[in-house]
Amino acid sequence: MKELLGGKGANLAEMNLIGIPVPPGFTITTEVCAEYYKHGREKVVELLKPEVEKAMRLVEEQTGRKFGDKSMPLLVSVRSGARASMPGMMDTILNLGMNDQAVEAVAKLSGNERFAWDSYRRFVQMYGDVVLDMKPQSKEDEDPFEEIIDHLKKEKGVANDTELTTDDLKELVARFKAAVKKSTGKDFPADPWEQLWGSVMAVFGSWMNARAILYRKLNNIPAEWGTAVNVQAMVFGNMGENSATGVAFSRDAATGENLFNGEYLVNAQGEDVVAGIRTPQQITLEGSKRWAKAQGVSEDDRVNKFPSLEERMPKAYKELFDIQKHLDTYFKDMQDLEFTVQDGKLWMLQCRSGKRTGAAMVKIAMDMLAEGLIDEKTAVLRCEPAKLDELLHPVFDKTAIANAKTVTKGLPASPGAATGPVVFFAEDAEKSKEKGQEAILVRIETSPEDLAGMNVAAGILTARGGMTSHAAVVARGMGKCCVSGAGEVEIDYKARTAKVAGHVIKEGDWISLNGSTGEVYLGKVETTAASLDGDFGKLMDLAGKYATMKVRANADTPTDAKNAFEFGAEGIGLCRTEHMFFEADRIMAVREMILADDEAGRRVALAKLLPIQRGDFEALFKIMNGYPVTVRLLDPPLHEFVPHGEKEQRELAKAMGVTFEKVQAKVESLSEVNPMLGHRGTRLGNTYPEITEMQTRAIIEAAMNVRKGGTPVHVEIMVPLVGNHKELRYQKTIIDETAGEVFAERNDRIDYLVGTMIEVPRAAVTADQIAEVADFFSFGTNDLTQMTLGFSRDDIGKFLPVYLEKGILKADPFQILDRNGVGQLIREAVFKGRGTKDHLKCGICGEHGGEPSSVEFCHFAGLNYVSCSPFRVPIARVAAAHAALSEE
Ligand code: ADP
Ligand code: MG
Ligand code: MG
Repeated sequence: MKELLGGKGANLAEMNLIGIPVPPGFTITTEVCAEYYKHGREKVVELLKPEVEKAMRLVEEQTGRKFGDKSMPLLVSVRSGARASMPGMMDTILNLGMNDQAVEAVAKLSGNERFAWDSYRRFVQMYGDVVLDMKPQSKEDEDPFEEIIDHLKKEKGVANDTELTTDDLKELVARFKAAVKKSTGKDFPADPWEQLWGSVMAVFGSWMNARAILYRKLNNIPAEWGTAVNVQAMVFGNMGENSATGVAFSRDAATGENLFNGEYLVNAQGEDVVAGIRTPQQITLEGSKRWAKAQGVSEDDRVNKFPSLEERMPKAYKELFDIQKHLDTYFKDMQDLEFTVQDGKLWMLQCRSGKRTGAAMVKIAMDMLAEGLIDEKTAVLRCEPAKLDELLHPVFDKTAIANAKTVTKGLPASPGAATGPVVFFAEDAEKSKEKGQEAILVRIETSPEDLAGMNVAAGILTARGGMTSHAAVVARGMGKCCVSGAGEVEIDYKARTAKVAGHVIKEGDWISLNGSTGEVYLGKVETTAASLDGDFGKLMDLAGKYATMKVRANADTPTDAKNAFEFGAEGIGLCRTEHMFFEADRIMAVREMILADDEAGRRVALAKLLPIQRGDFEALFKIMNGYPVTVRLLDPPLHEFVPHGEKEQRELAKAMGVTFEKVQAKVESLSEVNPMLGHRGTRLGNTYPEITEMQTRAIIEAAMNVRKGGTPVHVEIMVPLVGNHKELRYQKTIIDETAGEVFAERNDRIDYLVGTMIEVPRAAVTADQIAEVADFFSFGTNDLTQMTLGFSRDDIGKFLPVYLEKGILKADPFQILDRNGVGQLIREAVFKGRGTKDHLKCGICGEHGGEPSSVEFCHFAGLNYVSCSPFRVPIARVAAAHAALSEE
């Protein structure tokens, strides 16, 4: 249903079917949107007209009103609704059908003239902004209609919209219409049908606006889907003190707590609640009390000025409570709801699966499993792998936070900790990110135009808006730390300053945010890694239960290995030995080895390295406690290890007791035109076999030492950059001989595997021959991608953005595995390799090993494991489980 009706339309229909009060209406399907882009506006109107007129008659029958009628006018809303929810992306028009006659009739029917004119002026404003394109283009500009309102308020000496009289509203409508005439050269359309078609076409048009395109890009929504349009009879939350409008969640979208919550406003319409115009009130009594405490509002003030819906409209509240429970159970997922109370009567206007933080996602899935609403498999599938990333994000360092200075407090809109320099405009957040520094975006309130900047900010702080404000909802969706509604913060966009509690924060000054408490701190507060709670552990267990692939980590140091082990890695898939070479105590020995004149000189330096490497490997083996550890032999071009500056070269010369000129000449001789394709990988081991000998000895001795201490050890030695089976055979001979020597010395032996990375395309296509020597394959998809596509990893930035924009590439192939190219090589290599060796163990150790869609590919390519950076291990585990479950 969603494909055709869009998410909003489908759920409205479904709510109606299960007996929930929804205002009558109809949906124009997403197919029509495609037609619009194919054939254009005129044709679509012509095709659609008879059906829309028929549908409108049904709505008229149900409401007892008539569209365009002078005495009983039917007013409608025109709402966009794509298949996937795109909050704030496309604009809704309310009160459509209003004109000079209808407003009189509405006034008479409702007995509320002010309400009628308020609805009219809102309609002209929305229609002007959305359909007639009068919305301001630049950030500093104000909405032309808001400007007119501000003017009138000043003239009348009032502060709030609610203080404007009926005559004032009449005046506003007149001024609005004049503004429309001035801007468009035409009169504001009075004919409801003209209004309707204008709006429907504007919705289709908005599918291709920049905001919508960006949102789709960020969320991988195909442009072909199109949007549906919902036309629905209006209900009014702005009909007086017995009317209200609000949004609610069946569970807490930030923490996942199973607690009904939300916000509402009395005598308000549409998006007043999320727009941050007035301070919204809490729906439940419990929520209201928590809010008052967080905001420092006294109980008296709370009850008198900000009562909950539960207290204010108990009957409507009770009904709403039952409905949210019903929908939460019916859809078996946390619901995000929109409702309106018109003169005491509750109407539901929208329900959808609510956006949530990563933490809430896990908690809700595990809670619903415990409640018996969903089964284990569904619970795992509910947890989007990429979103787990947020759970692994830093929190404030405990001691740093104890000393931090709180300057103000807003609402805890989206949890996490963030620290960074302040910027006031979304573009500046983007600029800051480009310079490598994530900034804190500080705004009065955010709007969809700020999306790109919000996406790259470290955190977001707004002065206005509640827990369901644009900033809050979007930040939660992004898993980004956000504090909203920090009302004490006075922002001056022109001066680029924020004043709070006697401090002036200038652009570039550092502040820190705690999105879990709403606290704002001056200066930089250090952050530390997050700790993982019980629900997370449960999810990991379930992922392990349903995944068929194992997940290992790429870990070079004991710290990495510990992290990986804690995140549930079942082994190390890649230990890059050279990463150990850079530490202070060993780089000298490494350089000595590289700069030695001959084998004898190299052996002297290697002898110094042996105990150091052995110690490193012992630590890794101990931590991994019997899980496989794949150690890769030396891989990078040697020039990476030698100093290129004169000062350092002189120091090195002194330390080695040779002349500076000699060092300089040696370093020069190492320079290569194309080092990535030069003297590196197995080519090093085959030209300087003594390096392989030393590394093998270090690995085997470490393994035997650790095993002696009672810890099981599982050793895999991996030869990099093989393209020809003979390269591997030479290396294997050295490895076996060296291991044999160690065994003879110790009169003992240990099992070990010798395998290779498949990262040169030739290795993939000759995998049958290579498998005769190799005990395992590990796909090094960074180099394999580089060599298959012929894209230099380090230079792709120059053309990738253009290629993405032109659609030549769908994604960065270094992030998301290129299935049709690199993927085919992987498949062929697995097939050929296993043709030679039935049970050849195959894995992946490139960056792709932690990227969900690539993990899925690996599952279907028949790999035994993926290996990725420690922090991506949980993501890969859940992605692996998803892949396995999708096969069922
Ligand atoms: P969005 O996708 O941005 O949430 P919606 O179509 O849901 O846009 O509408 C915007 C606002 O207008 C919401 O607050 C919604 O509840 C309200 N609204 C939409 N249709 C009606 C209607 N028929 N009667 C009253 N309010 C409506
Ligand atoms: Mg909207
Ligand atoms: Mg909505």
